[in-house]
Amino acid sequence: MIDRRMFLTGLAALSACGDGRSSQTHQKRMAITIDDFNVGFDIGLSQKDRHENILRAFDAVGHKAAGFVTGSFVNSAWGQEVVLEWLARGHVIANHTWTHAHANKTDKATYLADIRKNQNYLNTLPGTSTYFRFPFLDDGRDRAQQLAFFAGLKSFGLRNAPVTMDSVDWYTTSRLEAALKANPNTNLAPYRDYYVEMCLTLSNHWDDVAQTLGFTSLPHLTLMHHNVLNGHFLEDVLLALRADGWKFVDAAEALAFSDYHPIPHEPTSGRNWLTLKSLEMETEIQPYPEQYIEFGSKRMDALVL
Ligand SMILES: [Zn+2]
Repeated sequence: MIDRRMFLTGLAALSACGDGRSSQTHQKRMAITIDDFNVGFDIGLSQKDRHENILRAFDAVGHKAAGFVTGSFVNSAWGQEVVLEWLARGHVIANHTWTHAHANKTDKATYLADIRKNQNYLNTLPGTSTYFRFPFLDDGRDRAQQLAFFAGLKSFGLRNAPVTMDSVDWYTTSRLEAALKANPNTNLAPYRDYYVEMCLTLSNHWDDVAQTLGFTSLPHLTLMHHNVLNGHFLEDVLLALRADGWKFVDAAEALAFSDYHPIPHEPTSGRNWLTLKSLEMETEIQPYPEQYIEFGSKRMDALVL
């Protein structure tokens, strides 16, 4: 609960920065991060087309993105081909555990071994990175477990990669994939329009939050996944973001932003970095856009998607 005093403190911080925070005068910046790489299935789009479309989308806006790879999902000739092509085309490839386990449900030794196994795999590939992202943004069930995991990451030479904007694409693609399974001729345009609008709204929401917290040109880390939805529409989303004034900053640069690297004050529990930061700073932030509460399920129901 944030009381009125804390809220006013937030407002004072806001006004202290004056007009520099208005959307007209600051550069909105983000890097796209793609998690999981569950590349071994196709629904309405071949695995090859999905892969190529996603890379083509980055090329369309000249962006070098980051892929957080779960090794067991790419443990095939095709998976290797996908990851190697990301590397060859200059994108960051980093660690997302071998099995995509929940940290809070896994004992410390097992979880750290899973990270280590994935890093051993990544180390066999040329030019992989030393970042790590916790699956489900779950970095442990309590402070002691969280600190043990961060100590383990440090001992492996890895750094945590937080998220500032969650596109909720994992839910949106589940609805699209269900529709395509039921009817391969599903009209895709309404899904595209919904996803593009959602990404614009959520990106601008979280950038407004960043402004409130005093991060005037934050290099956002946007969370997406290697899925059918992005195979179809990632390029539409990126072009719409660019038209809306967003600049794509190389993921390697965004990930290195120093404020991202201190250990969070408490277990992340699926929350993004800006939400954690607002709690640390005791600063009231704008409410999450109502139409996307519950992953947008009610809005998608209303739109019959
Ligand atoms: Zn994941």
